[in-house]
Amino acid sequence: MTRRTDVVVIGGGQSGLAAGYHLRRLGIEFVILDAQEAPGGAWQHTWDSLRLFSPAAYSSLPGRLMPPQPGEVYPDAQHVVSYLADYEKRYELPVERGVSVGAVQCDGSFLQVETDCGAWQARAVISATGTWTRPFLPAVPGRREFQGRQLHTVQYRNPEELAGQRVVVVGGGNSGAQIAADLAGNVDLTWVTQRPPRYLADDIDGRALFDAATARRRALDAGRTDNGGVASLGDIVAVPPVREARDVGLLTARPMFDRLTEDGVAWPDGTSAPADTIIWCTGFRPALAHFAGLRLRGTRGHIATIGTRSIDEPRLHLLGYGDWTGPASATLIGVGRPAREAAREIAGLIRS
Ligand code: FAD
Repeated sequence: MTRRTDVVVIGGGQSGLAAGYHLRRLGIEFVILDAQEAPGGAWQHTWDSLRLFSPAAYSSLPGRLMPPQPGEVYPDAQHVVSYLADYEKRYELPVERGVSVGAVQCDGSFLQVETDCGAWQARAVISATGTWTRPFLPAVPGRREFQGRQLHTVQYRNPEELAGQRVVVVGGGNSGAQIAADLAGNVDLTWVTQRPPRYLADDIDGRALFDAATARRRALDAGRTDNGGVASLGDIVAVPPVREARDVGLLTARPMFDRLTEDGVAWPDGTSAPADTIIWCTGFRPALAHFAGLRLRGTRGHIATIGTRSIDEPRLHLLGYGDWTGPASATLIGVGRPAREAAREIAGLIRS
């Protein structure tokens, strides 16, 4: 059976919910399809000690401030999951869970959304599938020869699982630094980064990142020089656990190795480090496989957009994947504005 609605939102994490909030305000009929059985998107799956890099009030979706977490300035992931579950309920967002979208096809004046629970026809689609389901691992020689365990950020949980092991953490971004800090003192740690770690000033948190991303977008839109945005400030937010580990000298990084061996990693200068486990904190790619059939243009796994709208398929909007779909749109505070713009454009399209 094929069901019909005005808008199908694919993904029920924070981005899908922000889209739902604005669609509802504009009186547009929609459904949100989410592959997971429970609310919270990627926040359900992070490591145990993860803390937001902004206080609660600066980590809020449109319409409703995130309440503070008692006793914590920077809330944990479980607090975000509870907030998102409450948000969804409060605004009565129509989320269908346990529904995985396999493909989106063009069907005359509709887009046909194929799922493992039947099909939908929609006049527009918002894709908000995030990146968590597409971990990226770089091609490094010897990855198959290494006999130990290899994890990605998405599989790491806590230091207890790796107690007493020799662990190599790869990556100089926030995930790499936070996981290295989590492990420091609990395992025999080697932290490896492509360039020396670049910490943001200790007093800078997610608020400043949001401001920097917004200023950069405005400058680019006005044809001014690219000031580098967030990247110009540094790579690592010095959240308290990272700051503490760094300040007592537990976070010293080595440069990137050039290959894996059977029992560890090796550098070009002939030095090596044995390892039981390597944790690749090497980022993500957007989860966009469901659009393969539409053959949309794009580079680096992206789809070409103006704002959130696909250039080649104007009935399709992309939300929350990164700065390419709106300044700081992959953050709680940043996704509200592009979600509003996407909903407004869609309202214009379906009411024209
Ligand atoms: P997700 O949360 O990944 O939700 C996407 C949903 O879509 C999921 O439920 C998924 O199952 C579903 N889905 C995927 N494919 C399909 C499909 N084909 N069919 C149906 N459903 C599908 N942001 C902040 O604001 N503050 C922070 O402190 C912060 N810290 C972060 C720390 C880490 C380690 C990471 C990785 C990110 C952090 N972020 C932070 C960034 C950001 O908030 C998250 O990445 C956020 O989860 C993105 O939300 P989303 O809704 O776009 O994607």
